[in-house]
Amino acid sequence: MSDITLLPAVTSFLAREHGLFIDGHNLASQGNAKIAVVNPANGQVIAQISDATQADVDQAVASARQGFKTWSRTSPAARAAVLFKLADLLEAHREELAQLETLQSGKLIGISRAFEVEQAAHFLRYYAGWATKITGQTITPSLPSFAGERYTAYTLREPIGVVVGIVPWNFATMIAIWKLASALTTGCSIIIKPSEFTPLTLLRIAELASEAGLPAGALNVLTGGGAVGKALIEHPGTDKVSFTGSVPTGIAVGQAAMGAKLTRATLELGGKNAVAFLPDVGIDKAVDGIIEAGFLHSGQICAAGERFYVHRSRIEPLLEALSQRLGQLKIGSPLDETTQFGPVANKPHQQKLAELFAIARREGSQIIHGGRIGDGPGCFVEPTVILANSASDTLLNQETFGPVATFLPYDSEEELLQLMNASPYGLSASLWTNDLGKAMRLIPEIQAGTLWVNMHTLLDPAVPFGGVKASGIGREFGSAFIDDFTELKSVMMRY
Ligand code: NAD
Repeated sequence: MSDITLLPAVTSFLAREHGLFIDGHNLASQGNAKIAVVNPANGQVIAQISDATQADVDQAVASARQGFKTWSRTSPAARAAVLFKLADLLEAHREELAQLETLQSGKLIGISRAFEVEQAAHFLRYYAGWATKITGQTITPSLPSFAGERYTAYTLREPIGVVVGIVPWNFATMIAIWKLASALTTGCSIIIKPSEFTPLTLLRIAELASEAGLPAGALNVLTGGGAVGKALIEHPGTDKVSFTGSVPTGIAVGQAAMGAKLTRATLELGGKNAVAFLPDVGIDKAVDGIIEAGFLHSGQICAAGERFYVHRSRIEPLLEALSQRLGQLKIGSPLDETTQFGPVANKPHQQKLAELFAIARREGSQIIHGGRIGDGPGCFVEPTVILANSASDTLLNQETFGPVATFLPYDSEEELLQLMNASPYGLSASLWTNDLGKAMRLIPEIQAGTLWVNMHTLLDPAVPFGGVKASGIGREFGSAFIDDFTELKSVMMRY
């Protein structure tokens, strides 16, 4: 098979002069600095985007403040209608957006279609449904009346204001949709800074949002590097940051937010997610589970499994079967629909993985399968299986965010729990067993924001998602996000 043909809409979009999206339209940056967007499958530059300046930041914030006035006074039903329309437009432009996403990130075209567009539209509709269901409480005050007067009280959930959304490169389209959906459904306006590696789909989605009827200023997009994100957080005209990215950047973002003006911050960060197989799980089921947990989108998923714990009696046959399955994967161009395993998303990431393989070799871990990077212009990395020497090996402690599964055998359930929880992170974990009673006893003992049983990685908009410990603060999805995008106002009355 060969690559699919790019749509004319994609080639003409790529050929454009890319500006910023401010006040409802494309606008040239006030500076000249550009950043190249590179296709990680072949190393070719596909677009140049602007690195926004402080003047651009000021202009976007002024627009978002104005946008907030209009949007927060728009009725909940009208807000929902715009977001439903945007979801329809995402689907109508499914192939165009999916191709752009694959070109900028190297994601398999099937994953771009299914997750970055279809799932994103599904999430957007879920969030849109909340617009008409955000409520406060009525409260009977607790103190007694002193001289016959009475009291009553109620709470209002008010939109927080201008939100700064900062997005990573791994699911550039879907995570941007989560951010804009949370902000817009609660009546906030938002300025999103996409990753400098993957900014293109969001620039197109901002145009579709205008087409859906979103008023000018409710959604602005500023492209550029980390400094643009920092300038937005520290700007006196912004009220909250919703950040998704790595732990070190997340800590810097949290500090900047608190240090600037107690800007509210929710942080969705990385981790070192544990996957535990109890001895009753069959080898084939375990191999399927490891591929689902560790190798989907080349492991470039924040919730992906990275540490795999297998009972000592099962580890040898399991690693053999896994290596065999990984050896059968068709590696190649992400635009070829028959490819099963594509490149990682960018050169620095490929280099980081090469360094981690070198560390694993230095520390004497066994590389059971893979362990090499490609030497061509594309960012290819072999799917890799590593057997660690001990729990302190680097590959069992540092996030790889790549197609790397590191294994350690355990002997008892007590040891398994100790290993799973001995991490400063706690985004996700999964437990694999056919023994329901055992699972129910272990679930409360495992430290993770999301714990899957006999599954891994699947996110649902109705189920809250976020990290414990150093994997983050706050939750997306469910109704939990509402607390983070609104302020609670208490109203008390005497009569
Ligand atoms: P990153 O932290 O390097 O960058 C994320 C974003 O932050 C980018 O847009 C970047 O430009 C911006 N940024 C960089 N420095 C900044 C600063 N000082 N102030 C403000 N913004 C700044 O992360 P990445 O490499 O793009 O993404 C991979 C990481 O994201 C992994 O660690 C992964 O686990 C994590 N992630 C977490 C989730 C989640 O929901 N918990 C989801 C996806 C990815």
